Amino acid sequence: MTTTLITGGTVVNTTGRVEADVLIDGETIVGVLPPGSELLGSDLKRTVDQIVDATGKYVLPGGVDAHTHMEMPFGGTFASDTFETGTRAAAYGGTTTIIDFITQYPDQRVLDQYNLWHEKAAGNCAIDYGFHQILSDIQPESLTAMDELVDEGVTSFKLFMAYKGVFLSDDGQIFRAFQKGAENGALMMMHAENGSVIDVLVEQALGRGETGPINHGLTRPWQLEEEATHRAIMLADVADCPLYFVHVTAKQAAMQIAEARGRGANVFGETCPQYLYFSLEDQLGAHSAERGEFEGAKWVASPPLRSKHEGHQDFLWKALRTNEIQMVSTDHCPFCMKEQKELGADDFSKIPNGFGTVEHRLDLLYQGVVDGKITLERFVEITSTTPARMFGLYGKKGVIQPGADGDIVVYDPNGHTTISADTAHMDIDYSAWEGFEIDGKVDTVVSRGKIVVQNDQYLGRKGDGQYLKRGTSQYLT
Ligand SMILES: [Zn+2]
Repeated sequence: MTTTLITGGTVVNTTGRVEADVLIDGETIVGVLPPGSELLGSDLKRTVDQIVDATGKYVLPGGVDAHTHMEMPFGGTFASDTFETGTRAAAYGGTTTIIDFITQYPDQRVLDQYNLWHEKAAGNCAIDYGFHQILSDIQPESLTAMDELVDEGVTSFKLFMAYKGVFLSDDGQIFRAFQKGAENGALMMMHAENGSVIDVLVEQALGRGETGPINHGLTRPWQLEEEATHRAIMLADVADCPLYFVHVTAKQAAMQIAEARGRGANVFGETCPQYLYFSLEDQLGAHSAERGEFEGAKWVASPPLRSKHEGHQDFLWKALRTNEIQMVSTDHCPFCMKEQKELGADDFSKIPNGFGTVEHRLDLLYQGVVDGKITLERFVEITSTTPARMFGLYGKKGVIQPGADGDIVVYDPNGHTTISADTAHMDIDYSAWEGFEIDGKVDTVVSRGKIVVQNDQYLGRKGDGQYLKRGTSQYLT
């Protein structure tokens, strides 16, 4: 077994920061020691095999990205990152755990899809991975499968109030799943947008000949996110079941979550970097010589980007600071422009939805620290500790302490990078983040005690990552 000492850095947990060395024995952290412990010598009587010099840098728990869609089938194509390319890109960006969504369509059996996701991921991942299960058009068989999956470590289930005929479940189906979740301890997750009304608006826009990408956002107004959020909270209240909202984008939806939390409900929310940084106006203003206004397809995701004039972005930053929103995941679901986003060249409703961000989440959120929007400790909390705790991984993940997995990011606050598709490692032919200037830089990434990234070089190999059989949410027990 290899012993690793990360020396000279500032160890940051949610509880504070301390000058300390971190000793990893094999895959596990065994000590957070006073600085200068390379002289460990007599009391620990160890030979350190490798030393990582973190002088002047932060030593952070590895990032946990709780929302990815590797190789997701969608709209007649597949998300362009495989488990191999997507998890390697994640590692480059300081994320050492992902939780990916097993996708189930109405004509598929839940447990078949669970097995299929294991086949796709096994032996291919650079970092550790767990699964959530998507349930679409929920049938009695799916409800039964929920119990089995909880036993397999899939302890969270995502339901949809949008995408009729594809993912959408009606209120009665959702309510039955909520009751099952209340019974077996699973955390229910919701895509909250009123899909039936969106479908009407989309049909009307297309009927008027409004086919460009910007109409994606214009046909999904914030009222339909707020309404669905409120409706889901009320249904969960009646079922007495905890509820987690994925990708909160609208200020008003965040306020619904805050209100529910204020009266003691187990309601949680995540947002994504794209909703903190981009607006509908950015998308509207996007033109290129090559593609004209179709350039805006790069920023098509659901829910859509929101108008800057309505203050959603500022509100979400505030909500992250005050814990009205608890964490940030990427909803990594990349599609290339060529042959993928282009499927919607004549019809915005056919543009595959999604951003490629898994590599940049830590860098993008760290800018919130640089800008004084969140503290360094809060940055660790929303990118690592809370996701770990939310999804039953805390103790092993999300913290630097003895007994935790040796998942560490050495982050250089004095580094600087510029995001570009040319230098990023995700398998996608553009970057939604092209030209973003990043203060701070991932220096070294350690996953289960193995150095997987250093000096911008990938030193791991596919198959390093292991399946994480998760417990139930540690906010609920
Ligand atoms: Zn998603």
